[in-house]
Amino acid sequence: MSTFDSSCIFCQIIAGHIPCRKVYEDDEILAFHDIKPWAPVHFLLLPKLHIASMAQIAPEHERLLGRMLLLAPRLALEQGCNPYPQGGFRIVCNTGAEGGQEVQHLHLHVMGGARPWLRG
Ligand code: AMP
Ligand code: ZN
Repeated sequence: MSTFDSSCIFCQIIAGHIPCRKVYEDDEILAFHDIKPWAPVHFLLLPKLHIASMAQIAPEHERLLGRMLLLAPRLALEQGCNPYPQGGFRIVCNTGAEGGQEVQHLHLHVMGGARPWLRG
């Protein structure tokens, strides 16, 4: 399941060629802080597998995507999001040009913390 794309900045981060502020890592998932956070907590959660966007997901990714979603609330709390319901978090998955996607490697933004936020 090696799909390293040398032109992809997130593949470069996964490979350790570009540094990141790591939040979580296992054999198939990586999470790191967004370099330009909008919120007090703002990290990205991504598969190590190079999937370009949510538009390319397929049935074989079901378990991987499920694992990412299950990790999100746990990591959000660990990173300082306040508990539901007064706290909470936002999960965003920009997809394609009209979806506002800049990096073409599927990733979830997980944002939270006390408001106001810089954006959103
Ligand atoms: P998107 O528009 O969903 O593709 O967002 C890409 C996100 O990746 C943006 O919020 C960027 O700030 C973030 N980003 C880009 N390069 C890096 C990097 N080297 N380390 C951490 N976050 C990054
Ligand atoms: Zn990639």
